[in-house]
Amino acid sequence: MSDAASDVVTEALEELRQRLQGLDEGAVADYIPQLAQADPDCFGLALVSMDGHRYRAGRCDTEFTLQSVTKPFVLALALAELGPEAVDRRVGTEPSGEAFNAISLDPATGRPANPMINAGAIAVTALVPAADPARRFARILECLGRFAGRPLAVDEAVYRSEAETGDRNRALAYLMRGTGALAGDPAEAVETYFRQCAVLATVDDLAVMAATLANGGVNPVTGAVVVPEPVAVRVLALMATCGMYDAAGDWMVRVGLPAKSGVSGGLVAAGPARFGIAVHSPPLDAVGNPVRGVAALRELSGRFGLHLMHNP
Ligand code: GLU
Repeated sequence: MSDAASDVVTEALEELRQRLQGLDEGAVADYIPQLAQADPDCFGLALVSMDGHRYRAGRCDTEFTLQSVTKPFVLALALAELGPEAVDRRVGTEPSGEAFNAISLDPATGRPANPMINAGAIAVTALVPAADPARRFARILECLGRFAGRPLAVDEAVYRSEAETGDRNRALAYLMRGTGALAGDPAEAVETYFRQCAVLATVDDLAVMAATLANGGVNPVTGAVVVPEPVAVRVLALMATCGMYDAAGDWMVRVGLPAKSGVSGGLVAAGPARFGIAVHSPPLDAVGNPVRGVAALRELSGRFGLHLMHNP
């Protein structure tokens, strides 16, 4: 990107940060105390281009737990290890139109609708090949670190709270063992999933992670091949159709980029072969998407013609 273009990006991010900082809507997730304590004013935006340039505005080095934003990246790991057929046998590829934690499995196949709802993500996590649960989680953490370009850690207090309050996810795991969608022990699968939700990263990290998917699985900062290109394409397609909770359709119409959000206020979006972008701002709308993140991406998409269906 030329210097002039890079100035435009930095200015756009900074202008959005200043203006949307005043957007005072939504509520911070409060199902566990650690998330309820999040600062509602925390707001950062970062963009990473395919040549590894970083652009940022606001609080980009504050760590937060990634929660559901981990789902596409762990899916990428499972796909890279096992191939699409093995993953498809356990988890579907259709938008569910239901809440992320819905207790719904396809009556005919017993599979969860897609890997972005909790049931599908738990099934995917359990598929990651490893000799035991500790090594499975170690592989997941290592892979998330390769996406980010640096080693990541777990917030142990958040992990414990997730595990203490996660009966609905446990129930989903046991149901899925009953239908054959879940490989292995349900209790171990959800423990690994809770740890995955509690992985810490910054907006800067997340922008690199999104940029790696946009760049066909190659981290544009480190140059590492994290996953094969067809895996990145598949993951981006599932983010485009299922990544934004029940608002995935509205998101595709209004923003038009593959994306994933999470309850702690993180949001990643990818412009294939162009950029990865991340926003963090804890207050969530009624669907569970971060209010400032959604507003920022809507504006950026409109202003710079980022919608995938846009004819430049
Ligand atoms: N730990 C949360 C859960 O599984 C993550 C949900 C989310 O970010 O959507 O319920």
